[in-house]
Amino acid sequence: MPILSTLNLKKYYGKDPQTTVKALDDISLTVEKGEFVAIVGTSGSGKSTLLHMLGGLDRPTEGKVTVDGNELFAMSDEKLTIFRRRSVGFVFQSYNLVPILNVLENITLPIELDGGRIDRTYLDEVIQALGLQSKIHSLPSNLSGGQQQRVAIARALATKPSIILADEPTGNLDSKTSQEVLILLKQMSEKFNQTIVMITHNESIAQTADRIIRIEDGHIVSGNAAPAGAKTL
Ligand code: ADP
Ligand code: ADP
Repeated sequence: MPILSTLNLKKYYGKDPQTTVKALDDISLTVEKGEFVAIVGTSGSGKSTLLHMLGGLDRPTEGKVTVDGNELFAMSDEKLTIFRRRSVGFVFQSYNLVPILNVLENITLPIELDGGRIDRTYLDEVIQALGLQSKIHSLPSNLSGGQQQRVAIARALATKPSIILADEPTGNLDSKTSQEVLILLKQMSEKFNQTIVMITHNESIAQTADRIIRIEDGHIVSGNAAPAGAKTL
């Protein structure tokens, strides 16, 4: 069973039929566990709307999103918030680190907030894999953009989420650092069998992913074939 799927997902903005924007129009897709998938489209194609639906941040007009067997929009807002906290990791263009907390505190914050137990062995592995060992006591303001994004990736991995959603994760980085961060995302996906879905408008950024799903005007135009070896729906 895919770790993530959408079925006939629609998101329309505005009630007046004359001016309704069909940001997503009948999106059905599947992502298998451990895949690193890029969703690519030009500005206005519906990427952010889709990512918000996949993360349960906003409700669709119609259709389903299922993450790890849980149908997101069948849940109450309260349940959905808890589910999101436990099961979805977010990585943003703007890193969103807490400036007064050091690197280690930033990484463990979502676990602390959720009252979860910290798996020290796993956490050390994540920190090591992202090359952050010597930085754990540093404040974000003393780190480069690439280092800050590596912290954000570690924070997303820390809770062992079902999926990580990355929104233009290299949008604030130069091209060399972008490549490094993308390679790390791919390595994390392989090493920890972590499912990662990234949105980007940049075709060359997308090339690092295992699979590219292209969207235009709220429709998938290519890339929704199941990976080799996986069963189709
Ligand atoms: P992308 O992330 O690919 O740039 P978006 O998902 O942001 O695309 O937007 C898809 C379409 O939906 C665009 O036409 C955009 O103007 C519209 N849209 C997005 N959010 C809203 C909103 N809150 N209200 C009205 N229209 C919106
Ligand atoms: P970017 O700067 O890359 O566009 P933002 O930081 O503005 O990304 O976040 C994109 C959207 O996701 C915003 O609408 C924001 O409110 C929401 N968001 C950000 N972090 C979280 C979070 N941890 N949980 C829920 N929603 C979030």
